[in-house]
Amino acid sequence: MIPDQTRLAMTALTDLLGDRLSTGPSVLAIHGRDEAYSTPALPDAVAFPQDTAEVSAIMKICHQYNVPVVPFGIGTSLEGHVIPTHGGISIDTSRMTQILAIHESDLDAVVQPGVTRVALNTALRATGLMFTVDPGADATLGGMAATRASGTNTVRYGTMRDNVLALEVVLPDGTIIETGSRARKSSAGYDLTHLFVGSEGTLGIITKLTLRLFGQPEAISAATCAFPTVDDAVNTVILAIQSGIPMARIELLDDVQMKGMNLFNPDLNLPETPHLFLEFHGTSAGVKEQVDMFKSIATDFGVSDFQWASAAEDRNRLWQARHNAYYAAKALRPGCDGLVTDCCVPISALAECIAQTKDRIAASGLIAPILGHVGDGNFHLVVLVDPNAPDEIARAKALAADINHLALSFGGTISGEHGVGIGKKPYMAKEHGAAYALMSALKRAVDPKNIMNPGKIVD
Ligand SMILES: Cc1cc2nc3c(=O)[nH]c(=O)nc-3n(C[C@H](O)[C@H](O)[C@H](O)COP(=O)(O)OP(=O)(O)OC[C@H]3O[C@@H](n4cnc5c(N)ncnc54)[C@H](O)[C@@H]3O)c2cc1C
Repeated sequence: MIPDQTRLAMTALTDLLGDRLSTGPSVLAIHGRDEAYSTPALPDAVAFPQDTAEVSAIMKICHQYNVPVVPFGIGTSLEGHVIPTHGGISIDTSRMTQILAIHESDLDAVVQPGVTRVALNTALRATGLMFTVDPGADATLGGMAATRASGTNTVRYGTMRDNVLALEVVLPDGTIIETGSRARKSSAGYDLTHLFVGSEGTLGIITKLTLRLFGQPEAISAATCAFPTVDDAVNTVILAIQSGIPMARIELLDDVQMKGMNLFNPDLNLPETPHLFLEFHGTSAGVKEQVDMFKSIATDFGVSDFQWASAAEDRNRLWQARHNAYYAAKALRPGCDGLVTDCCVPISALAECIAQTKDRIAASGLIAPILGHVGDGNFHLVVLVDPNAPDEIARAKALAADINHLALSFGGTISGEHGVGIGKKPYMAKEHGAAYALMSALKRAVDPKNIMNPGKIVD
């Protein structure tokens, strides 16, 4: 049943957008769920704006009629972020795909929010520059900024926090603001850019991003290598990071995850023992030096079966397999859903935290492969659940809760990169204490009518 106020807003939105306001059942369904295990809920309509002025006009209408809105990039988030739990309008930015400027000499690019990370890198290919943040999915840059995403390269090049220089944002009442600038640093007032980075659509809609770029390295070498135990792999990572090897990528996949990798990627055919997937960037001499240092550390922890990939297509195949690791995990139990955890702990605590995690998985009796961006202290469980088995879902949630509390006990966080959405909200008070009330106060100040993605991050 659509509320009267929403009906009035939809009439005004149809006048504004014509058939770019959709109520088609399949369109509503796509905008009512995400990629992981969450209970779906449909929006009343989906708007497809093409530019900032249209986003502003949509927000003015929704503000006037007190209608909830949920910004939508491409829907790959994993914590129920885009699910319109309060109904209303899903604002899909997928038609805002212009790359507005590439400033080669300043190493930055200005883009609309619907540009995906792969599309930006394709456009950059001839320039010798690259955009480095790479969540597994080909997410939109607006969605990535809104979740403060990271990826396999983050250990070297940083998260979205480090790679967003400036934003244009439409506020809940339709006001358009600019935050930050193309300068590499600024001390001019509150850092509003980074208030919106990670705000998950709860404060405004990002309509333009200025992003930091890096030069493509002269030499790149990638490898996989196997370890007798997860502990050996993790201790290798800890020592490599503590020794200052500038790893470009260092990713853990445990033995259970490796079974899924081989099932999902029959060409991979790697031993089903814990693995690190690695990449080294630099000059040819620099890469060789890094590789030698890494090998000498890994040898002390029983490394074997190094398989190297230097040709671009071999490296791409390797990292595509890593990016599809979530689907590979799901291949272990066809028909299941994945409940994903996202702890991040200080690097010195990583081995103990993962060891205790493995004990808890064993005690739960559930299948939960471990993988992660371990160079950052960040690891995930993909807890495989039968979506039709409430008892199993309850056990999976209990396991996830346990792991979240474990990460906090090590001075870590419940979310290294996926964000809060609905799924991680119950842990926010414990992680942030009194600072969580300040987050609520900020939300009320920016969005007093609580129309921006209500129910996510804070109440
Ligand atoms: C296989 C797989 C692997 C993944 N691996 C990683 C990983 O390694 N690292 C990682 O960080 N994440 C990972 N993710 C999660 C996901 O890709 C990221 O959260 C991504 O940043 C979401 O982008 P999106 O375009 O899909 O955004 P959506 O899912 O559409 O939206 C995400 C959130 O951002 C808000 N939002 C979207 N666009 C805007 C906008 N223009 N303005 C304001 N708010 C907006 C939405 O309201 C929502 O709250 C993975 C997901 C999958 C499916």
